[in-house]
Amino acid sequence: MTKAGRTRKGAEVCSFCGKTSNLVLGMVQGPGSLFICNECVDQCHSILDSEIKRRGGRASVSLGEIPPPAAIKAKLDEYVVGQEQAKKVLAVGVHLHYKRILRRDRLDSDVELDKSNVLLIGPTGVGKTLLARVLAQVLDVPFAIADATTLTEAGYVGEDVENVLLKLLHNADMNVSRAEQGIVFIDEIDKIGKTFMNVSITRDVSGEGVQQALLKMLEGTVANVPPQGGRKHPEQAYIQVNTSHILFICGGTFVGLEHIIAKRTGRRTLGFSKDESAAPEEDLGKLLSAVTPDDLIEYGMIPEFVGRLPIIAPLMPMTKSDLIRVMTEPKNSLVKQYQKFFAIENATLEFTPGGLDVIADRALERDTGARALRAIFDEIMLDALFHLPAQPPGGRYVVTDEVARGEKPLVVIAEASKESAA
Ligand code: ADP
Repeated sequence: MTKAGRTRKGAEVCSFCGKTSNLVLGMVQGPGSLFICNECVDQCHSILDSEIKRRGGRASVSLGEIPPPAAIKAKLDEYVVGQEQAKKVLAVGVHLHYKRILRRDRLDSDVELDKSNVLLIGPTGVGKTLLARVLAQVLDVPFAIADATTLTEAGYVGEDVENVLLKLLHNADMNVSRAEQGIVFIDEIDKIGKTFMNVSITRDVSGEGVQQALLKMLEGTVANVPPQGGRKHPEQAYIQVNTSHILFICGGTFVGLEHIIAKRTGRRTLGFSKDESAAPEEDLGKLLSAVTPDDLIEYGMIPEFVGRLPIIAPLMPMTKSDLIRVMTEPKNSLVKQYQKFFAIENATLEFTPGGLDVIADRALERDTGARALRAIFDEIMLDALFHLPAQPPGGRYVVTDEVARGEKPLVVIAEASKESAA
């Protein structure tokens, strides 16, 4: 405070900066002869804003806001087809995780609660990343994705691992306490720390330091995050992020794990034999459902890792009918998205059951689950989308089996087709 009250001529003087009212836009009077000018009010705002940011602002989730498991699953159902067991396990696990956090904060209990990180096991393109992403959306918490193999390959021990938290911070608008309640998805966790039983390893996975840093994060640690990313250097100021409440969801394909489970349970794996009666993907799904932590350790995961991932949820391989559902059912399914593109150009897009069937078959051949669908859609639609804006409005396009196979182009048709499926 510099001067207070008024000048001899009666003009108001800002108690903070000393400016008189004729030099500023406005003045607010406090008790007695205290005044504050609009410029000082602005300055106070920005000081308080950064202080609130530094301290983390308000908590992002409150106990009353955590949806019950059934509501979490219902939301997951809107975006993720099938995977019933995984959705249920995740809904319960995540609900309890956030309840624990908040209960601990409220009661200020000194009982250390175990972290309940999650391990999702299943082939490529069956919804592991999608589940984690949708969960973060449902709970309205920040989300970040990392790939365990790139962490290993970068070779800068510690640095990259903490950059995962920087991504989380960015997605939390640099609000530390919001980031500390976020979800981190780490893909390809099966490639980390594999020890001996190397059934299908193709990469060098030494990275002992990365393993240790990841383990610490999973367990809960205060990590020093370089705000600019990149390599750490001593003069740099770090942002400290406590990972104790961050939910880590790890994903991995665990190729060959089914053989270990089959051996333990006395079941026979079908291998790649085509003439068995049960579909191989069904068999794989059943076996993965029976996974135990010991199977993972036998697979080569280091026991500390397995110990820090107490919730294990297996995901099933995609069948043909799953793929058709993925194309048509979710809120933002590919069919709905492309129909929207066409609608924007005043055209309509339809798919015959045969067309969808062929697309599903083509995706199955690629063996990358639902991941293959987008590329196949893009390929089928490219020419039509290229010409669409120049076409007269009201055009009707139908993806038949021939179009889906690439035998015919997707062009505007005049006659109504009765066999459209979507
Ligand atoms: P991964 O299991 O390899 O992490 P992703 O979750 O990245 O697979 O799936 C790739 C894409 O395939 C997703 O973005 C989504 O569009 C689609 N997809 C995969 N599985 C499902 C599913 N169960 N339900 C709906 N879409 C799915």
